Amino acid sequence: MSDVGAFIRFVRELYGQREGAIALHAPTMGQREKAWVNQAIDSTFVSSVGAFVTEFEQRIAAFVGARHAVATVNGTAALHVALRVAGVQPGDLVLTQALTFVATCNAITYCGAEPVFVDVEAPTLGMDPEALAAWLADHAVLAAGQCVERQSGRVIRACVPMHTLGHPARVDAIAQLCGRWGLALIEDAAEALGSYRAGRHVGTFGRLGAFSFNGNKVITTGGGGAVVTDDEALARWARHLTTTAKRVHPWLFDHDEVGYNYRMPNLNAAFGIAQWERLPALLSSKRQVADAYRQWADRHGWCFVQEPSDTRSNYWLNAFCLPDLQARDAFLQATNAAGVMTRPLWTPMHRLPIYQRCRRGDLPVTEKLSDTVVNVPSSALTQGDE
Ligand SMILES: *Cc1c(COP(=O)(O)O)cnc(C)c1O
Repeated sequence: MSDVGAFIRFVRELYGQREGAIALHAPTMGQREKAWVNQAIDSTFVSSVGAFVTEFEQRIAAFVGARHAVATVNGTAALHVALRVAGVQPGDLVLTQALTFVATCNAITYCGAEPVFVDVEAPTLGMDPEALAAWLADHAVLAAGQCVERQSGRVIRACVPMHTLGHPARVDAIAQLCGRWGLALIEDAAEALGSYRAGRHVGTFGRLGAFSFNGNKVITTGGGGAVVTDDEALARWARHLTTTAKRVHPWLFDHDEVGYNYRMPNLNAAFGIAQWERLPALLSSKRQVADAYRQWADRHGWCFVQEPSDTRSNYWLNAFCLPDLQARDAFLQATNAAGVMTRPLWTPMHRLPIYQRCRRGDLPVTEKLSDTVVNVPSSALTQGDE
């Protein structure tokens, strides 16, 4: 890794920043956002009721090609609600990947369910359909149309693959397996707005998908998220749950189940509409950044993580795969010391004390990738008011 110095100079040139810190992923914003947020203020509807939330939801649904979208306070809340309306109950098992941000597992835990980890695959960084098939063949049986763990009899209710760094997982193959085993497929597409597999937007392959609009994602609402689905009844229930399960009535406070205060405020939705208008420019700028990294990697013999075949990735966070843990740590040390922000992947969930006792298949690829993959600065090159 003797080229780290050259890499640092390359990133500084790419972002036209000779000095100062270069962020991993900075949001792009400007006058547009101010104008929309001002409209929300002028309307006096700044909280969890307002026209911009509905408009924001319509834009999400239209963009990803889903019938319905329900906007939430953040992506974690979106995942939680998606799992609830998919029928995940206390005591259930939910298949997912250990190579993910902790929110995926936390949302499963909020339902009183337990995550089960299967391995990921190197080309997509997402759940490996073969590993999923193998775990199910070894541990599951179908009993009266329900998937249960053979040993304990516990219901395996759902499967939550994650589109890592925006690269689409093989959700078409995973969807087939879920169909065969009677599992609800819920995609954690938090990082993957603008990513497609076989021409279809991710998050729409299963029963529900969840997106995040946190400050570090492709577009942001400050904090925010959304559930998408084609199922009208599920969308209605999700919206009900996010608004304290209050029955529609002009004045009565009638709540027919324990709901959540998870609805996205109008102020955030206004900001989000302005961001939405930037999305095409942001996505193409991010592809330009990815192209530059790929070309640099080709010239220097580095391994750049590219979009898998038959997909279009949003390249949310660009990544390189380094030879080993030692090379990774040397890279992280040198780049961060030089003000070029880089990060390892997440500590895999089965190595966190809170999830280390969860069931899991063999995770060799998860371990290898978490030891060797690094994320590098990936903000769009377009400036706020261009
Ligand atoms: C960002 C993210 C979330 C959660 O989003 P928040 O809006 O931060 O709650 C969930 N899963 C993954 C994989 C993420 O990257």
